[in-house]
Amino acid sequence: MTENLQAKIDAYIEDNRERFLEELFTFLRQPSISTRNEGMHECADLLAGLMRGVGIETRIMETPRHPIVYGEIDKGPDAPTVLVYGHYDVQPPEPLELWTSPPFEPEIRNGKIYGRGTSDNKAQIFIYIKTIEALRAVTGDVPLSFKFMFEGEEEIGSPSLAPFIEVNKDLLKADLTYYSDSHVHESGRPIIILGLKGMVYVELTARGARIDQHSMRATGVPNPAWRLVWALNTLKGPDNKVAIEGFYDDVRPLTNMERETIAKIPVDEQTLLDFFGIEKFVPGRVEDGYYYNLISEPTCNIAGIVSGYTGEGSKTVLPSVAKAKVDIRLVPGQRPEDILAKLKRHLENAGFGDIEVEGGNFLIPSRTPIDHPALPVIIESLQEAYGLEPIVFPGIGGAGPNYVFTDILEQACFVVPHATHDQANHAPDESMDLAGFFNGIRTGVRVFPRLAQNLKAE
Ligand SMILES: [Zn+2]
Repeated sequence: MTENLQAKIDAYIEDNRERFLEELFTFLRQPSISTRNEGMHECADLLAGLMRGVGIETRIMETPRHPIVYGEIDKGPDAPTVLVYGHYDVQPPEPLELWTSPPFEPEIRNGKIYGRGTSDNKAQIFIYIKTIEALRAVTGDVPLSFKFMFEGEEEIGSPSLAPFIEVNKDLLKADLTYYSDSHVHESGRPIIILGLKGMVYVELTARGARIDQHSMRATGVPNPAWRLVWALNTLKGPDNKVAIEGFYDDVRPLTNMERETIAKIPVDEQTLLDFFGIEKFVPGRVEDGYYYNLISEPTCNIAGIVSGYTGEGSKTVLPSVAKAKVDIRLVPGQRPEDILAKLKRHLENAGFGDIEVEGGNFLIPSRTPIDHPALPVIIESLQEAYGLEPIVFPGIGGAGPNYVFTDILEQACFVVPHATHDQANHAPDESMDLAGFFNGIRTGVRVFPRLAQNLKAE
């Protein structure tokens, strides 16, 4: 793209600012609360209309719950293809009284658009619709083929996404997946996320007497709360290493490039300690760096324990049941079914075969190779659009279903957020930064022409 053409596209975005926002507001005014099936088809229809309006061939594809809005721009078999993902569903807006302006009546204040679904994820989807419009309006075409997949179930855990992708592999296959969700760095510098952790979430249950007993019977009746504590004690020691046999066997070590990239993530550990209100971090297995561990280390976390009497005052009781919820976050190489099997075997071998393990919420970890040739192109585009140096995150601490792209579709996946860290997604007064919205479009019109060149050269 010549500098002159780039300037023309930027001018087009600037000249159409108000209209872009008006159209976005129509999208934001339509509630689409997936968890209680409110306005889902209406919103899918509205989104499809916005996509068709810029020449994206669009259809609504049903799933067992909420529809997926699928769109295409096909430039023929030789053109590289990018799959753009996003979600049009939103979280419930309650508690309504904590909103400064009504959640489905978007309003601009202090450089931000306020409303439910602004940053999460409607404005960050709409960025790509306007990217297409701007590229077409100025250059007469788009530089590569596009596929768009906007789901309506992200806020309820994407139950239909993996099955939908499994049966539509050919339809969705692309050179890479690219999408915007989450937020830029606190400093305002844009970021690129290359991976999410996986997850095994289990509930452990120890059982004792048929019903709660008077605690004088502790001389003879076993206490399941102790039993559970002893069992949990075998999972991890004070050294913070997970003691489940074979737990780390398949952890793929970081590449040198990943290590170097993590070392470049700005961090002030003292500020973080103050923020959490703690004296020091737990020891790392390999290294002590905060981001090194956040990105590269799996966890075994007790998310909650409950047994017996925990109310005010005292009650001398010997509980009949004790439960703990445990979330295990996985890193690349680890597989959820394997880790669950290892956990069960571990409990068995340690003499805790009686502890019931109920599992759910399996997520496979995802990781896009850091030496992927598209990465430098994305970095360059963000740098130019924001005028700030991007930060690359080889992974993050959060878990999510990006494996549907990296493992089922077997294509690289780049997450490029444009909201700010104070977006308050899922909370009252959710907002999308205006500058972030327009920088997102400015990034889009830069990154796709560059990717077209770059992927063709492959
Ligand atoms: Zn969300």
